Amino acid sequence: MRKLVIDMKKRWAKGLITGLVMIFIILTIVFIVKSVRDSKIEIRCPDTIVVEYGSDFDESVIKTATKKHLFDEKDKTDIEIEGDVDVTKLGKYEIKVVASRKKKHVSKNVVVDVVDTQAPVISLACDSDVTIEAGESYEDAGFSANDNYDGDITDKVEADIQIDTRIVGDTTIVYSVKDSSGNEAFAERIVHVVDTTAPGIFLDGGDVYYVKKGSEYKEPGYSAVDICDGDVTDKVCVSGDVDTENTGRYTITYTVSDSSGNEARAERTIKVYMPMPDNAVNPGDKVVYLTFDDGPGPYTDKLLDILDRYNVKVTFFVTNGKPDYQNLIAKEAQRGHTVAIHSASHDYARIYQSIDAYFDDLNEMNDIIIAQTGKSADIVRFPGGSSNTISRRYCRGIMSQLVCAVQEHGFRYCDWNVSSGDAGATTSTSQVVNNVIDGIKSNNVSIVLQHDIKNFSVDAVEQIIEWGLSEGYTFLPITSTTPMSHHGVNN
Ligand code: ZN
Repeated sequence: MRKLVIDMKKRWAKGLITGLVMIFIILTIVFIVKSVRDSKIEIRCPDTIVVEYGSDFDESVIKTATKKHLFDEKDKTDIEIEGDVDVTKLGKYEIKVVASRKKKHVSKNVVVDVVDTQAPVISLACDSDVTIEAGESYEDAGFSANDNYDGDITDKVEADIQIDTRIVGDTTIVYSVKDSSGNEAFAERIVHVVDTTAPGIFLDGGDVYYVKKGSEYKEPGYSAVDICDGDVTDKVCVSGDVDTENTGRYTITYTVSDSSGNEARAERTIKVYMPMPDNAVNPGDKVVYLTFDDGPGPYTDKLLDILDRYNVKVTFFVTNGKPDYQNLIAKEAQRGHTVAIHSASHDYARIYQSIDAYFDDLNEMNDIIIAQTGKSADIVRFPGGSSNTISRRYCRGIMSQLVCAVQEHGFRYCDWNVSSGDAGATTSTSQVVNNVIDGIKSNNVSIVLQHDIKNFSVDAVEQIIEWGLSEGYTFLPITSTTPMSHHGVNN
């Protein structure tokens, strides 16, 4: 029995020892594993860390890359970074990462690459969709380019902004730019070229063309040009008839369309006219003396051409109001018209202050006429006419004396019995035409007063002549044998 108790005690002690040994072995293994772990610190971050320009360099990329201890809840590794990174400047920065745990240290060299991968931005001024008319020159509204790193790089933008606007259709302008890191940006603008412009029709010989009655009418010629289609002369349609056996105005119409359907139209007036025959005899009581005062001036040349066309001779009562046109006095005489004296100065205050003053002015004008035509004039017209009352302001009774005095000096004076109203009553060509025609109708012999320094009045002459010839009137210049028209003297 006693022996049994002793065996029981031995067996318990043996088990205790075995347990203690086991615990010791386990603790030793744990200690060894832990020590081995602690001796291996790994820095697992990449050799090169890329950082976008302008953003922060996030060091946590490195911290989280270290290896955690197996049993610790917390990573007790300390990390230190040696070296600086400037994210405001592109480039590669070398830094040293040092990881420490207890007395163990591990280090790694890491390159931090600060890069710019952001493309610039191109901004187009105005609309990116533009419509322009064919033929107009294209002017780009402008653009600008900005980069996050380089700033304003507008001068580096490339774009072909040459557009042939004679071609109808759409053109896309591509604007491109690269920043210093090679990031590229694009922008587009669409330009629509439309053609709403009709061709131009050009009439050789102008839009008024004269054809003498009885002669043959030949088309004077024309051309047509379109901005897009170029020369379209052969597409012009001409319509209208001219009857050269009858005087009058005829209209010829020219039309043409371009390939965009824009139609152009032009008209030419053909005037079939009949000049006064050279041997106009026996005018009877239908005589018209057209007279023109106060010239010559800028419209006198045009008037001479109209008169030539109709073979009508008139009388010019000239002044020296526009000395630059003095040479036209010679032309008037050469072309068969009568040159007569009006006044050198046409200054009432000067010429009507005395008889002598009047003749000084008259002689001054006559000298100019002699210089231009080679001979003295023998017909005069008083400024304001012999019936004027304005002279009373400067010299009472002077007109009564002058009407005699000029005749004593060998001149004949001539007033008028038809006034065109062009001295102030009207500035309308058609009114001048009406006034003159009405006046002629109410006289047997008409002496018509017009002024060739008035353009609208000169423009009335053609219609007056056409009417007069068609009504059987004869137009004549005043000569020394013409019966003069005299107003009643009022001063
Ligand atoms: Zn006058």
